[in-house]
Amino acid sequence: MRILIVEDDPLLGSGLKTGLGQDGYVADWVRSAEPAEHALRIEHFDVMVLDLGLPGRDGLSLLRDLRRRGIDLPVLILTARDAIADKVAGLDAGADDYLVKPFDLDELSARIRALTRRGGGHAAPLLQAGELALDTSRRAVTLGDQPLSLSPKEYALLETLITCADRVVPRARLQAATYGWQDGTESNALEVHIHNLRGKLGKGRILTVRGVGYQLVAEPLP
Ligand code: CA
Repeated sequence: MRILIVEDDPLLGSGLKTGLGQDGYVADWVRSAEPAEHALRIEHFDVMVLDLGLPGRDGLSLLRDLRRRGIDLPVLILTARDAIADKVAGLDAGADDYLVKPFDLDELSARIRALTRRGGGHAAPLLQAGELALDTSRRAVTLGDQPLSLSPKEYALLETLITCADRVVPRARLQAATYGWQDGTESNALEVHIHNLRGKLGKGRILTVRGVGYQLVAEPLP
C-alpha cells in the first residue's frame, strides 16, 4: 500500500512517514499542494493523507481540484481545525474520512486500512484467493491452515496481487506499491521478492506475464 502524506509540519510529517512505514505502508511525504499534484501525476498511490492548513494553496483547494479532474483515490483529511463547518467542508470537497489533531497513529492506521479496503471493493478485512488468505487488520497471511511469515516487502507485494487475484498486475504498479522514493531500488529487487514469495506460496501461484507483470492465481493447477 502506497500512501502520499501532504503535511507542512516537519515533526508530524516525518513522524507519520516513519510510523506508517513501521506499519508496513510505503509512505511518501510532501509539504505542500504543488509537489503533491506532481507526485499524483507520476505515481500510483492508494491513499492520500492530507493536511488542510498548508503554505500557499490549502488542502481543501487541492482536494476540490483533484476531484474535479476525476482523481478518485481515497483521501483522509488531517487537521487541527475541529469546527463542524470545517469537517463538513472537507467531506463536501471529496474527502473520505476526517481525523482531528492530535490523533493516535493506531487510529489513523486503522482508518487507512478501512479506506483502502473500500477502495479495493472489499469491506471486510480478509482478502482471499483460494486457500490463501490475508488478514489486513493483523497483517497475517495463511495458506490453508498454515501461517506464513512474510517480510514487509513480500507482504506489500502479496497484498497488491491478492486484491487483483486472477488478473495481471503491471510491474510498475507492483513497484509503486512496494517502494517509496527513498528506497533506492535495484532493478531486479522486485524479481527477488517475487522469487522469495513464490518459495513461500508454492508452485504455480504467481505467474509471470512477460513484458507486462505478474498474476496471482487463486486456484493453481495441481
Ligand atoms: Ca499545517
